[in-house]
Amino acid sequence: MKEPRALPLPGPLPEERGALFLWVRRGLPLAASVLAFAGATFHNAGRGWWLLAGVGFLAVAWPSFLRGEALLRNQTTVRRQDGLWAYAFRPLARWLGLEDAWILSYCGHNNQRVRQALGHQRAKRALILLPHCVQLARCKAGILDDLQACYDCGLCPVGDYLNLVLANHWEGRITNRSHKAYREAREYRPDLVVAVSCTDRLLKGLTKMPEIPCYVIPLALPHGMCVDTDFNVPHLLAAMETLVEPRRPSGEVQALRRAGIA
Ligand code: SF4
Repeated sequence: MKEPRALPLPGPLPEERGALFLWVRRGLPLAASVLAFAGATFHNAGRGWWLLAGVGFLAVAWPSFLRGEALLRNQTTVRRQDGLWAYAFRPLARWLGLEDAWILSYCGHNNQRVRQALGHQRAKRALILLPHCVQLARCKAGILDDLQACYDCGLCPVGDYLNLVLANHWEGRITNRSHKAYREAREYRPDLVVAVSCTDRLLKGLTKMPEIPCYVIPLALPHGMCVDTDFNVPHLLAAMETLVEPRRPSGEVQALRRAGIA
């Protein structure tokens, strides 16, 4: 018998780990530009070409330095370029047995930049996207049509999420197809998407919706892909409290847990 989950408590946002991606994304073009400028110094005959290559590599590295307003203004271009880097090095990461670490590093780097960009001005219109596989597979509650069909039995994260949505007036969607999630996001026109998914779908989502700032949270897969998945609900709560203007009405709303329904 599965034990009911503990209710989520507010806490700080965890540290993001994006160093691996940043080292590759920024380090490689910078190193190449240093080599090109060295070539221009020592190879007089082709100096013009070496200089051109050096400047070109600097231009490739430049988007990785954008922060704050400048980043938000160039969101689409920066995300497209970062996505190309993430996809380009994915086969090598897979070959090294580091595919998940590589994608998570890309996600962490993205999250760092979103946090930095929204540090002074929080999002006003945020949308949460969750995959349907977080619902317990044997549960018959029709949460795809109506989240409030969940009985909050505590056996999967949906009940915790429902309580937080009701208490904080969050806007969110649970979908069973990625393309539906993208469509919902584009229709709602959020200034921030907070998305929970497996690493593969997070990478896809970040590249498919480059125009929308996205804070991403990876799924835990204790039973493998797409079945009874889980996620860190306090992480979602911390992300919403840190990055989004509160819409909570005055007064506390007490979360309730109904037992043994699913
Ligand atoms: S009723 Fe229980 S198992 Fe079903 S979605 Fe809600 S919390 Fe999950």
